Amino acid sequence: MPPDQAQVAEARRLRAAIAETLDEAGFVLPGSVTRREMRCGRPDCRCHDDPPRLHGPYWSWTRKVRAKTVTKLLSEEQLEDYTAWIDASRKVHELLRALEALSVGVVEADPRRRS
Ligand SMILES: [Zn+2]
Repeated sequence: MPPDQAQVAEARRLRAAIAETLDEAGFVLPGSVTRREMRCGRPDCRCHDDPPRLHGPYWSWTRKVRAKTVTKLLSEEQLEDYTAWIDASRKVHELLRALEALSVGVVEADPRRRS
């Protein structure tokens, strides 16, 4: 049973959104960025005051490489350059998962079987 009209239209919409996202960003970066403020090892430093005045903020980009977490600190300028790439990657993966779910639905509804 072929995909119905609504499924074809939805698949077209998802493919276009994926293409548009990739074209806009140009690159895609896996992982996520978190903001960190840190204490250093010097006991007399301001970061050990009460209240503490921590170092940073630092932006730490984290991704998985062969099931291991890899972290790299980014400057404010790098953050500005690369945030769109990270957002694009997340969005494309979401759209791709939606397209996969739609495709699975088509196959699951297909009554044909080998006899
Ligand atoms: Zn310190």
